[in-house]
Amino acid sequence: MHIAGNPQTLTAQQRELIDIAATLGREKFAPRAAKHDRDATFPFDNYQDLREAGLLKICVPKNLGGLGADFATYVMVAAEIGRHCGATALSWNMHVSSCMWSGFIADALDMTAEQRADHEVNRRIHHGHIVERGLVYSQPFSEGGAAAAGKAPFGTLARPETMNGEAGYVVSGKKIFASLAGAADFYGVLCTLDKPGATQKDSLYLAVPADAAGVSVVGDWDPLGMRGTVSRTLLLKDVFVPHTARLMPEGLYWQAAARFPHMFATLSPTYMGIAQAAYDFTVAYLRAELPGMPPVKRRMYPTKQIAVADMRIKLEQTRALFLQNARDACVDPDKDTRMRLYAAHYTIMENANALAALAIRTCGGQSMLKSLPLERLYRDSRCGSLMLPWTAELCVDRLGRECLYESGERDEAIE
Ligand SMILES: Cc1cc2nc3c(=O)[nH]c(=O)nc-3n(C[C@H](O)[C@H](O)[C@H](O)COP(=O)(O)OP(=O)(O)OC[C@H]3O[C@@H](n4cnc5c(N)ncnc54)[C@H](O)[C@@H]3O)c2cc1C
Repeated sequence: MHIAGNPQTLTAQQRELIDIAATLGREKFAPRAAKHDRDATFPFDNYQDLREAGLLKICVPKNLGGLGADFATYVMVAAEIGRHCGATALSWNMHVSSCMWSGFIADALDMTAEQRADHEVNRRIHHGHIVERGLVYSQPFSEGGAAAAGKAPFGTLARPETMNGEAGYVVSGKKIFASLAGAADFYGVLCTLDKPGATQKDSLYLAVPADAAGVSVVGDWDPLGMRGTVSRTLLLKDVFVPHTARLMPEGLYWQAAARFPHMFATLSPTYMGIAQAAYDFTVAYLRAELPGMPPVKRRMYPTKQIAVADMRIKLEQTRALFLQNARDACVDPDKDTRMRLYAAHYTIMENANALAALAIRTCGGQSMLKSLPLERLYRDSRCGSLMLPWTAELCVDRLGRECLYESGERDEAIE
């Protein structure tokens, strides 16, 4: 079954890249997933395969040597990767996001001529790292406070400073859940420009080299799921980076986040893939087609058929919203598009977990043994709706408020 439903509706590039992801996923990522999950190790081997297949540069613009994939293409490929290894898809999302923010999203933003020229110089450097050297970027935004939910300025501060004649910033702060910690070559860190009265609008998106003085990765990593993301804590202590570290000009991240909200739903393709994988597993299990299983078919029982039909219905509902979301993405979406986006993101995250739970109930006791992938899918699927800024709860909060209030509306004080 194709991750994007009917492949005839896809562009030639979409078909080709999804096929590449499917082959890599089936032949390489899926067989390695259990080991990375068990040991909570980063899948460097998968990243080497992504690099060789050109998928690290999927969203680098064509004129900078990349594949120039758009949002819809990216999310479909990500879902196919998530189908085979959720942790690889999730951390790859952090890498590709750095290219999307600084690539096609930046192209659509309002910038002065000076900002545009500055951005061209900087992104040529960073996209060049990816295209020419296969380097990897991450995006540690979360800090454990209200910033990652978009409710407060980032506590990580960037103080303008010149060092040895080079203008730049000195960055200090702490990022929690920094996927690719110890694996990325650059950490794409969101910080606040250190100046009096700074607000969220003074955000700064900087690529900090992993080997810069003052960068360290601390804490252990032994979570429930998504163990191969190795999302440990990143500490930045007086780290100097030059002006060319800017992945966007000063203040532009704020504009990007406000005008391209679909970026916050780039976590959900991974979970679309997991939902698909839970269904794939169930069908293969009930047909007794899983390698290493005793050939005992269980498909003839009506209860199994009803359960699998229920799973298929949930899966197709999830896919329909996923594809709608992929194609809706644009700068300055109208209110209804944004509300569809919350609904889609919420549905994908929650249905992935519901499908994994249903798969275990339907297949039964032997299906959740560690020798099979289903119990990993179940644990990984639980992690999606916890991720900021759009946890399941926050999607519901936003949706409910925006259903009932138009912009600027307030209630009278209740006597
Ligand atoms: C496997 C994994 C990988 C991750 N990788 C990354 C990464 O690479 N980069 C990155 O930046 N982050 C990453 N994260 C972090 C993630 O995005 C969240 O920041 C993190 O899960 C938040 O956990 P918390 O306990 O600090 O949440 P809290 O902020 O304590 O929130 C707990 C819950 O309260 C609710 N809540 C929070 N704020 C509000 C509010 N203002 N109003 C109403 N309700 C609210 C939310 O529903 C939330 O689920 C990752 C997380 C996981 C699990």
